[in-house]
Amino acid sequence: MDCLFCKIINRDIPADIVFEDDEVLAFNDINPQAPTHILIIPKRHIATLNDIADEDRALVGRLPQVAAQLARERGFADDGYRVVMNCNEQGGQTVYHIHMHLMGGRRFTWPAG
Ligand code: C5P
Repeated sequence: MDCLFCKIINRDIPADIVFEDDEVLAFNDINPQAPTHILIIPKRHIATLNDIADEDRALVGRLPQVAAQLARERGFADDGYRVVMNCNEQGGQTVYHIHMHLMGGRRFTWPAG
């Protein structure tokens, strides 16, 4: 499959992996927008938020769970952090395999740009 993140999962292209289990992979974003910027992805290919099926619910629920775990491990869970999932072109999605951005280590503003 011609999907960048599937290639990272399959180790066809490199990434700085920080967490992995049977269902989920997390790696440092190559273009970080915060002191910590991690992408958390399901190993099952799901192209966009619009493509989440009923049988994906438990899997997708693991993304914020892993985000919180990584935030706790890095010591900014209590201070706070930002998670983002972009959907399609106007939402700013550039890689069509769903991913949760976990960003921490600085203050974020609202609304997002
Ligand atoms: O939400 P969006 O689809 O724009 O996010 C894609 C993210 O994937 C970007 O933050 C980009 O820096 C990251 N990326 C990466 N490693 C790659 C290609 C893209 O971390 N090889």
